[in-house]
Amino acid sequence: MLGLYLHIPFCAAICNYCNFNRGLFEAALKERYVAALLTEIARAADGTPADTIYFGGGTPSLLEPSEVGALVDACARAWKIAPDAEITLEANPETVTPARLAGFRTAGVNRLSFGVQSFRDEELGRLSRLHSASRAIEAFRAARAAGFDNISLDLMMWLPQQSVADWLVSVDGLIALEPDHASLYLLEIYPNAPLRDAMARGRWSVAPDDDAAEMYLSGLDRIDSAGYVQYEISNVARPGRQSRHNLKYWTDGEWLGLGCGAHSTRGRVRWRNLSSTEEYISAVNGGRSISVDHRTLSPEERVEEALFTALRLSAGIDVEAFKNRYEVDVWGRFGSALQPFVDQGVLLYDGCTMRLTRAGMLIAHEVMTIFIQ
Ligand code: SF4
Repeated sequence: MLGLYLHIPFCAAICNYCNFNRGLFEAALKERYVAALLTEIARAADGTPADTIYFGGGTPSLLEPSEVGALVDACARAWKIAPDAEITLEANPETVTPARLAGFRTAGVNRLSFGVQSFRDEELGRLSRLHSASRAIEAFRAARAAGFDNISLDLMMWLPQQSVADWLVSVDGLIALEPDHASLYLLEIYPNAPLRDAMARGRWSVAPDDDAAEMYLSGLDRIDSAGYVQYEISNVARPGRQSRHNLKYWTDGEWLGLGCGAHSTRGRVRWRNLSSTEEYISAVNGGRSISVDHRTLSPEERVEEALFTALRLSAGIDVEAFKNRYEVDVWGRFGSALQPFVDQGVLLYDGCTMRLTRAGMLIAHEVMTIFIQ
């Protein structure tokens, strides 16, 4: 079934490490944007069955619950939304109150994904985040009280001045809240990020690469012990609580991206929407095309991408199923190049399934280059 992604490109402040498609919140611009998004949804309507709606950003929780409700309703008119659809809203802790959370729930949202990033205030300050650790805890508890039984928390590791022990404080903070799902990312600082200047001014450094590996492995060990199951390089969940929407990206599924800069994949065709919020609104209102960079993947590109994304999953690649779907014998084609990784013990292959060990996930990119023809 189709997944629907709705991009909400507004934030109350811009974090110093952020490289997403977002801008500062302005109430009037947001209203014009939501109107354009409703128009895009009505125009894209084709009645296809869909089972996930994902509000990503930016900071979707800056929308009013009534706006989220209007967007969910518009999707329900445009596509055939499954009764048990997963409807996720990304939320920043400082934006939610009990009343707003109740409103999001009434609007149809049944999964929240909080960008917590750290449970240590000094680290949140270095990242220029607006919330504190206690505000994140309060937001999580308020979400539970509002009836959300499917909540994900994001944490970031390898932050400036963060030691392995500091990282584990955040991991323990996350475990203590008992979320249903968690995403653990390594902070990547892009070349012109303002955080780089802040690091130079503050003489902050990041831990050596070996410590980053230790953060990843020790954090996941603790999370295992708390009863979560890793299902993707950066994602863990309680049984049955994997992100159904994100799994579409990793299993060669189909999704439609709505809003500025959103990417879509249907069949073998990929495209993206205009990135600029103003250009997007003006094109929608003027009845012009908003999609650019249409590209039909060649069968080879599709195989490569399916291999890349399947290897991200803990379940790995089911070689027989892959052969049936793409007519490619993965081991026959790549086996000799992959054998050294099997010999090192970072890639497991038993004749049926090929998957990375956790240590292998640390060098996933190296393994994936084998699939590029
Ligand atoms: S809240 Fe998220 S999207 Fe917005 S600036 Fe910060 S990291 Fe970027």
